Amino acid sequence: MTNYDFDLFVIGAGSGGVRASRMAAGFGARVAVAESSRLGGTCVNLGCVPKKLMVYASAFSAAAEDARGFGWTVPRPTFDWATLIANKDREIARLNCIYRELLEGAGVRIMEGRARLRDRHTVDVDGTVVTAERILISTGGHPFKSEIPGNELSITSDQIFHLERQPEHIVIAGGGYIAVEFAGILNGMGSEVQLVYRGPLFLRGFDDDVRSTLAEEMRTQGIDLRFETLINRIDRSENGLAATINHGEVLEVDQVLSAMGRLPNTAGLGLEEIGVELSDRGAVVVNEYLESSVPGIYALGDCIDRIALTPVALAEGMALAETLFNDNPTVVDYTTIPSAVFSQPPIGTVGLTETEARDQGFDVVIFRSTFKPMIHTLSGRDERTMMKMVVDKPSDRVLGIHMVGSDAGEIVQGMAIALKAGATKATFDATIGIHPTAAEEFVTMRTPI
Ligand code: FAD
Repeated sequence: MTNYDFDLFVIGAGSGGVRASRMAAGFGARVAVAESSRLGGTCVNLGCVPKKLMVYASAFSAAAEDARGFGWTVPRPTFDWATLIANKDREIARLNCIYRELLEGAGVRIMEGRARLRDRHTVDVDGTVVTAERILISTGGHPFKSEIPGNELSITSDQIFHLERQPEHIVIAGGGYIAVEFAGILNGMGSEVQLVYRGPLFLRGFDDDVRSTLAEEMRTQGIDLRFETLINRIDRSENGLAATINHGEVLEVDQVLSAMGRLPNTAGLGLEEIGVELSDRGAVVVNEYLESSVPGIYALGDCIDRIALTPVALAEGMALAETLFNDNPTVVDYTTIPSAVFSQPPIGTVGLTETEARDQGFDVVIFRSTFKPMIHTLSGRDERTMMKMVVDKPSDRVLGIHMVGSDAGEIVQGMAIALKAGATKATFDATIGIHPTAAEEFVTMRTPI
């Protein structure tokens, strides 16, 4: 037993902070967590959860159209934004309560308020001062907005979840997964959507075939994608907002969504004052055991700017608790992390893209299949699924799996286990398919392109 109030003080009750708190308490540590907003952090309140509920909501319009080819008579569906937002908020409030119960049940003390470090063992939470042997920074990140005239008129993903009215015509600025997902969500709900991105194609870092396939699918659905395009200024106009793009054209819209990336939440925490090293982007610099340049101060999740995904923050939280309180030094393995983009159709991806594999010197064989999913043979929808495997020729090991198509996230999660286990193409070939599914294509692709 130390002289400190707590063995671990956690700043931020998001994905990583909650996991670290609960596990540390489970190992017998005396833990407190400070939260300045709502329990559960970005994922629960302003990220994965509300976003996925909105993805579900937006998919019903296409499902109603598709049903006709199967003999259903479906009257033209109408959508009520206010109902969705109210139902979504109720679900999130339920999750907030569950997080509280989980923390309290584990014996973690919750301190509501904004925390700031006074020194390496002392934290001030809105005037209440406590001490801890170790401190964990798990403060997440926030949306970044570019410095253009009128940028205060744009909203970010934080606000879109609480708009009173559905945008009728929205322009989304950005080329990352959040921009792409909201383009699909709002298009499915009937908004007119334009997406502008400064690069030649969105979703930089994803496999090129994935990027081009999704761009084609989104255009087929009527989303206006404009690449090599920037918004230069935003002004109020008679009917809403006027977004002037670099080609001089003015887009008349009622909302501009700025989805240009996120930055770590590290300002105003007192970190620099006690000598914690931060990167150029403001991320806490940590070693493999998530310890910062100041001994006893740790950080994880979005505020270390490694891979900003909830399951990664959870893995880091578990690793830290194991290391500090279970006598089991644990390092997170950042290789072969699968991910999804909940676009319409969605993307699932794991391992190396074709370009990454070639750049790393692999002699690769590529298998690719593009086909009309069975459901659309009757629905009449013009949608294609694309699946791709990147294989190392000398060892036959599968280096990457990429998919654009229904259930891609669900399918690729299973594929990720195979890749983690080091599966070869021969193992995939020896696996019997499940028929009729789209996923069976991954075990029947025989001819390299
Ligand atoms: P957070 O969950 O952000 O938690 C940080 C917490 O710290 C917050 O609650 C904040 O209020 C609190 N805090 C900050 N400063 C202080 C302070 N000084 N005192 C007290 N409390 C403080 N990831 C996925 O894996 N899948 C997805 O589909 C997905 N979709 C997303 C969609 C959107 C729109 C966004 C924005 C993110 C999405 N993410 C998704 C990313 C995911 O939400 C984050 O990677 C994850 O939440 C990071 O967890 P964290 O613990 O690092 O931080």
